[in-house]
Amino acid sequence: MKHHSRRDILKELGMGAAAFSMGAGNARPAEAVARGSADRGESSASGTVMAIAAHPGDALFTMGAAVARQINAGGKGIFLNLTHGERGNPSISPAEYGAMQVAATDKAARILGAEPAYLSYPDGEVPDNEEARFAVCDAIRQHRPEIIVTHWKGSFHKDHRACYNIVNDAIFYAGLPGIKRKLQAHSVSKLVFAENWEDAEGFRQAIYLDVSDVFERWVRACSAFPMWRGETGFHYDDYYQSLAVARGSLARIGQKDSSRFKYAVALMLPPDYGARRTESLSSPAITGQSTI
Ligand SMILES: [Zn+2]
Repeated sequence: MKHHSRRDILKELGMGAAAFSMGAGNARPAEAVARGSADRGESSASGTVMAIAAHPGDALFTMGAAVARQINAGGKGIFLNLTHGERGNPSISPAEYGAMQVAATDKAARILGAEPAYLSYPDGEVPDNEEARFAVCDAIRQHRPEIIVTHWKGSFHKDHRACYNIVNDAIFYAGLPGIKRKLQAHSVSKLVFAENWEDAEGFRQAIYLDVSDVFERWVRACSAFPMWRGETGFHYDDYYQSLAVARGSLARIGQKDSSRFKYAVALMLPPDYGARRTESLSSPAITGQSTI
């Protein structure tokens, strides 16, 4: 069998092992404030990651390990939920289930050392409108994250697609000093998308994060949700734990240190990222595995 380096294989699979660093990248280069030099791939890992999800389960199951990793590295993590996910269990009333989902989110966030936040739009009816964009803009200006992780738009769930649209524009609004709100403008450095079985259309893995050190804690946090164990018909526990093993296997190809990447999560970069950032993507700093 022909020997392939890890990078060769990732290249053939259309992936790259890019860094998820706190360097000066641009989430929306065309619209954000110009930041000058390319991402140098610093990995100080002291910044804030904000996970913005349509439903609490999405936040913890698909974005939680990345947030946990950031906290473990000395940074901060915020879970912003656009709804309480209150219509997710047909056998429990929305009022009761919404309260359960909030309690589970609060508990999970506590386990990870993250901060939960809510916008409380009706589950299934996330409004893809300006009011929601400004509400998320205000949350971004409040928490001032360097990195935002959210839904990819290739979803069969309308709330997820709305969340993608809202977050993209909210990042733009948050960074524009000319948009006067109560809080000062804040430019987000990086936007990435989480791997979610409901958002799989067109999703491309671009970044692998080694989440081995936080895996058990992340599973414990997810376990705060009854739906994690399949109570609403989908075994999130089996799926996302297996996915972490599968992604770890891919990320480990060619790694000398076999203790790394026992578990990994894959993230996607904005589709225009490579086209706009060809130079920095080819630099060693961003093609090597780095910390979040
Ligand atoms: Zn969802």
